[in-house]
Parts: sequence; C-alpha cells; structure tokens
Amino acid sequence: MQDKALLDPFGRRITYLRLSVTDRCDFRCTYCMSEDMVFAPRAQILTLEELYSVADAFIGLGVRRIRITGGEPLVRRNLVDLLRRLGAREELEDLSITTNGSQLAQLAGELRAAGVSRLNVSLDSLRRERFAAFTRRDRLDQVLAGIAAARRAGFRRIKLNCVVQKGRNDDEVQELVAFAVEQGLDISFIEEMPLGSISSHERKVTLCTSEEVRARLAERFMLLPSSYRTGGPSRYWQVAGSDTRVGFISPHSRNFCSDCNRVRVTAEGKLVLCLGHEGALDLKSLIRRHPGDAGRLRAALIDALRLKPERHHFEADQQVQVVRFMSMTGG
Ligand code: SAM
Ligand code: SF4
Repeated sequence: MQDKALLDPFGRRITYLRLSVTDRCDFRCTYCMSEDMVFAPRAQILTLEELYSVADAFIGLGVRRIRITGGEPLVRRNLVDLLRRLGAREELEDLSITTNGSQLAQLAGELRAAGVSRLNVSLDSLRRERFAAFTRRDRLDQVLAGIAAARRAGFRRIKLNCVVQKGRNDDEVQELVAFAVEQGLDISFIEEMPLGSISSHERKVTLCTSEEVRARLAERFMLLPSSYRTGGPSRYWQVAGSDTRVGFISPHSRNFCSDCNRVRVTAEGKLVLCLGHEGALDLKSLIRRHPGDAGRLRAALIDALRLKPERHHFEADQQVQVVRFMSMTGG
C-alpha cells in the first residue's frame, strides 16, 4: 500500500522532497531575486513544528531523501533543531542542504552532528568582483571559508552549484572545475531558468547551455561518462585522474521530466508539483485547520499527486515563465 502511495499518473514514484524553510536570504543573486525583494510575513511561514509534520507525512509515504533549501536555509533561526529531528529518522537515506555557504563557517560542525549527510554550496565565480556582481554582496571570502569549514567538519563530496551565464562567468568554468579538483569537491553547472521577474539581465542573451560548458571543459579536462546519480536532475561526468564529478542540470537543453521523482514544499507551505508550473496546493491551511492530523495530511498529499504535470516547457526566449522566484519555490 505504502509503496503505491506517492505514484503520479505517469507512473513516477515520488521519493524525494525539497523542503524550503525560509524565503529570506542574505544574498540577492541577480538570477534568483530582485534587489528589493519583499519577503512573506513571518506568520505566513511554516513553523519548525509544521515543517517537521510535512516532512513526517512525506516520509510516511515513502520519501527517502530530503533536501533542505530556501531562500537561504541557514538564516532560519533554530534550523538545527529541525535537522536533528530529521537526522534521527532512520527511514531517510539522505538529508542534504543547499546553501549559499555564508553561514557555514559557524554552522558546519552543528549540521554534521545533526545528521546532515550532504551539502551543495552555490558558487558562481571565484573572482571577487564577479562574485559580488552575481550575488550583489561582496562575500566571496566568507563563502570560501564556509566551504573550508565544511570540509574540516567531515563533509565529503561537497558539491558546488554554478549558474553559468554568457559574458559573465562562462569563461571561468575551467577555473571552477580546477578549484573543485584541487579541493576534492564535485560541481554542477546549471542552465538559468525563467523563474521570477528580474531586470538585471536578459535571460535569452545570457543563457549558456550545458553543451557549451562541456565543450569548454573538454579543452582542458578529460570527462568520462559516469553512472553516478544523486536522485536529482544532474547528469554526471568524472574528471579523469581525480575524484571530482562534474554534473549538468539542463532544464532547457535536456528535458529531465520523465524520471522526475521529486516535489517541493515552499516555506509558506505550498506543495509545488513541478518547478515549471504555477499550480500549487496550500498545505498550510490544512495543517492549521487540523493541527496534528497526520492522516488527513497524508491523504491530501496522495490526492494532490494526481495533478503532477507530465513535464515543464521552458522556452529559451522567455524572460519569465513562472512568476514565482526560485527563492520562493526552493531550489
Ligand atoms: N540559497 C541557497 C543557495 O543559493 O544555494 C539555496 C536556495 S537557491 C534558490 C538553490 C539553487 O537555485 C542555487 O544553486 C541557485 O544558483 C539556483 N537558482 C536560483 N535561481 C535560479 C534560476 N533562475 N535558474 C537556475 N537556477 C537558479
Ligand atoms: Fe539567495 Fe540562493 Fe537565491 Fe542566491 S540563489 S539569492 S543565495 S536563495
């Protein structure tokens, strides 16, 4: 019974939840947020207890991997309390966090002790001015110190996430891979998606496809196809002569929907069945109307899965396709 619980109409089994714990962030990356973002009032954000009840319902329905994201998850106060509770759940095979790295220097040890198994750290450039232009914050050193702290805390195979834009950092991808190899990290290159209205750049002009990135990397590195998968949408290649894996997340150039195994819950408690569609189900109202009613929550999740779309259709020439910013949905 449980095995069938989270099956969508296209036969895909949902085993992976991305749970956003805040829409707030200490950075303002140009592809993700506008400079003057308005964040949700705190009362609209799920409490840590509510976040746990959502995670618990998904675990009860067969979810085995949870990625905590945001906004910047590590700016959420007392997040470690939630992580400890999730880290203690034996059913979970993987509890990971996607972070901008700004708080890692302080928190890496606590995250590791709480049971977090993997970290993804976003890093678009190793050059100070460029980093500041991407994030609108001059904090490259803080992020590099965070990565070093995470390695010291014992995190293995930390993965860098890098959004590549033409004319902004596409000439730096070799340097980024060399850094990953030197530091014993993995790295994924991401095609920018048309989520949220932004004014800093024209997305169709800056779009750099995974194939273009791979061609640049092939000039310097030998990339061997790898069967490694993390349950996410990356396809991986191994850098010959190193432990480093290079992943490509290609929402434009390669549609990865057919093997989609994931759903997202926003910090406001909206269940998002597909990143590329506006539709979302309001779990917060249900949880607040019926606090502690785990059965009702599970039934609502099973029911909602019937509405999971078959695929997204991102168009390269569209500046905005989904009004929701990535920081609201949770990357
Ligand atoms: N603040 C954390 C961070 O930056 O890693 C977690 C949340 S962030 C929304 C998650 C990931 O989404 C980041 O790696 C970021 O680069 C990516 N992202 C944000 N907006 C994007 C967009 N429009 N297209 C593609 N990736 C995006
Ligand atoms: Fe913040 Fe992450 Fe979005 Fe950058 S990508 S603004 S760090 S939520």
